[in-house]
Amino acid sequence: MKIVMIPGDGIGPETMSVCTNVLETISEKLHLDLELIPEIAGHDSLKKNGATVTEELLAKVKVSDGLILGPMATYDFKDETKGEINPSKFFRKKLDLYANIRPARTYPKVPTRMNPFNLVVVRENTEGFYADRNVESGNSEILVTPGVGISLRRITRECCLRIAKSAFELAMTRKKHVTLVHKHNVLKITDGIFLDCCAEVAKLYPEIRVDDFIVDAMMAHVVRNPENFDTIVTTNMFGDILSDLTAELSGSLGLGGSLNAGDRYAMGQAAHGSAPDIAGQDLANPFSMITSASMLLNWLGQKHQLPQYLQAAKLIDQVTEQAIEAQEVTKDIGGQFSTSETGKRFVQRLRAM
Ligand code: NAD
Repeated sequence: MKIVMIPGDGIGPETMSVCTNVLETISEKLHLDLELIPEIAGHDSLKKNGATVTEELLAKVKVSDGLILGPMATYDFKDETKGEINPSKFFRKKLDLYANIRPARTYPKVPTRMNPFNLVVVRENTEGFYADRNVESGNSEILVTPGVGISLRRITRECCLRIAKSAFELAMTRKKHVTLVHKHNVLKITDGIFLDCCAEVAKLYPEIRVDDFIVDAMMAHVVRNPENFDTIVTTNMFGDILSDLTAELSGSLGLGGSLNAGDRYAMGQAAHGSAPDIAGQDLANPFSMITSASMLLNWLGQKHQLPQYLQAAKLIDQVTEQAIEAQEVTKDIGGQFSTSETGKRFVQRLRAM
């Protein structure tokens, strides 16, 4: 299997280097025959190719089996006419990666004020409030007159049905509990469509318990009792915000793995950004990137029915648990190791399994 690996900006090269070592080790151990193809995007590509991402890169990704995208300095990329394209948006839209799966769980040795929890946010990835991806051409934010702006939110039955289906399918492998998050009291039409689609899909899964919360109240509920939730499904921006919160509640944003999946392609991508405040200091937590890689292997295993890929994902997750239990981790989750040392120890553990 060919996997394109793009380190990205800021802490990306540091965490991607660990991720690459982990994938090489698991490939050797379980005979996965992974071919890791290094590519560039973000600032490196802007300097070299005049654009943060290119059609040539997309073509390479399309003939590979998966992509792991490092964090991007998205805030720096403001003008698409100058090649400053948001790489996350580019791949999510061009590869139709509509489901952003963002798990968050606590570990006994990671300091947190929460009760133990294990949940997953299923976020729609291709429309909603995201002005850069919800229209065919141009941008859905309009400067009406100086000082007056309008931002449009697109919600479609097609996208709501497919994200609901992803969430209910996932819930069947978990605790069979789905929570719908919306703002139907204000966004009556668009979140009405979202809720109607979820209700339609729910009928196909009668054994799943369904409840729903208004997004603002959800913030309080998830901070108060995150253990009450299992699979949460929501629209794009609500899911983006909620999943950063749940990752941080689990101990650190640096633990937040994520997968962007469509019907044909998938992309592992850590939930966090390029973290310029700690970049280049060997401080970044590599577990979000490692978990994202494990999620991609699991997706490949399910899609192509390859038990050794499913086994690989399981082993990586087990080593993650062991490493955290042994506190062989970075400072953000109470450890004392650098990114590279955390990675080195992780690979040693993986080899010894
Ligand atoms: P951020 O996620 O980069 O950082 C937020 C906080 O979390 C910082 O204190 C950072 O040090 C910490 N953090 C993040 N990842 C960590 C890790 N692996 N280990 C330890 N601590 C970690 O958010 P930001 O600072 O607001 O954004 C920086 C840049 O990243 C901006 O350009 C933003 O647009 C971009 N961004 C990109 C993505 C993405 O590529 N998916 C996501 C979010 C933000």
